[in-house]
Amino acid sequence: MTPDAPLIDRSLFGPGPTNTYPEADAALVRPLLGHLDPVFIQLMDETCEMLRTLWGTTNARTLPLSATGSGGMEAAFVNTVHRGDVVVVAINGLFGQRMAELASRLGARVVPVESEWGRPLDPDDVLRAHPSPAIICAVHAETSTGVRNDVAALGAGKGDALLLTDHVTSIGGMPLAVDDWGIDVAYAGTQKCLSVAPGLAPFTINDRAFERRVERPTSWYFDLGLLGGYVGGDAGGKRTYHHTAPTAMVVSLHAALTRILSEGLDAVTARHEAAGAALQEGLQEMGLELFAAEGYRLPQLTTVRVPDGVDSAKVRAYLLQTFSIEIGAGIGEFADSVWRIGLMGHNAQPRSVALVLGALKQAIAATR
Ligand SMILES: *Cc1c(COP(=O)(O)O)cnc(C)c1O
Repeated sequence: MTPDAPLIDRSLFGPGPTNTYPEADAALVRPLLGHLDPVFIQLMDETCEMLRTLWGTTNARTLPLSATGSGGMEAAFVNTVHRGDVVVVAINGLFGQRMAELASRLGARVVPVESEWGRPLDPDDVLRAHPSPAIICAVHAETSTGVRNDVAALGAGKGDALLLTDHVTSIGGMPLAVDDWGIDVAYAGTQKCLSVAPGLAPFTINDRAFERRVERPTSWYFDLGLLGGYVGGDAGGKRTYHHTAPTAMVVSLHAALTRILSEGLDAVTARHEAAGAALQEGLQEMGLELFAAEGYRLPQLTTVRVPDGVDSAKVRAYLLQTFSIEIGAGIGEFADSVWRIGLMGHNAQPRSVALVLGALKQAIAATR
């Protein structure tokens, strides 16, 4: 790329990353802070506190891990899965499959409970899969299929098991109540409905799960025993060096969370719901068929079938070249037959709905 290449301004309407909140962008150009600077420590403390509000938890161990969402997943599993544990994993998409893969790498006895892609998991099936699992795992918002799973029902029926859940696409886009829903360990990411660049993984773990943790996890970087002292909670407020926090990213997340909470969590959720409903209605009016089961469709990530005779890749290329709009392809066997359209965070607005519907209509007509 030449040094004077133009700044390309995409509309990121795929499954992530999404366009960032202007507040999150503005924070990135502030002069860098050191990671032990008292000003940064204050910002980190406030970030953890705002994350507690978004998670719906009072967990002391709530922090943004220095990683993308996948690092949050890694941290959740390496700290809680002991070799030989029975781990029930609900699978109705790619991210459920990854949970099973991680648990299996850690030597767990994985009990997969599958349901068809595009359909929600049945909480009773998951709860009946084993009489006494150590851990039950599920994805709240399956980004690969656009389906919402009922994790609260798993929390209500989990018995002595720990409930470990993925909220990468749900945090900041839909209601979330970690404590009320009985979730013990949860991870998320910044690049979806939080509308911050990829790079941090909001994470929370309660005392019950922390007490049962793996003493010396195979990962040093994600060892929560060490990280606790780093963010303050476990060292009586004194910070001990573990790794250098990505300070610019934390400051950007702080700005986005401040914005989200000043808009109000209910208002933010309602904005996502309205945008998702308008998009889904508009797609159906165009004669397209939605992929995810009715009643379980995510507002922030819509999956729609590619019509017969339409080339998925050509349409996506046209959208990118003509309108600078990115949408996502499907995953796995649905790679060519499904599109994934995200209206997350800053993009959950009426103008994005109008833009993507108009552009998609033109792209389909032009590439047929
Ligand atoms: C995007 C996503 C991840 C992975 O997050 P990265 O930021 O890509 O590492 C995990 N789970 C779900 C449900 C996701 O949508």
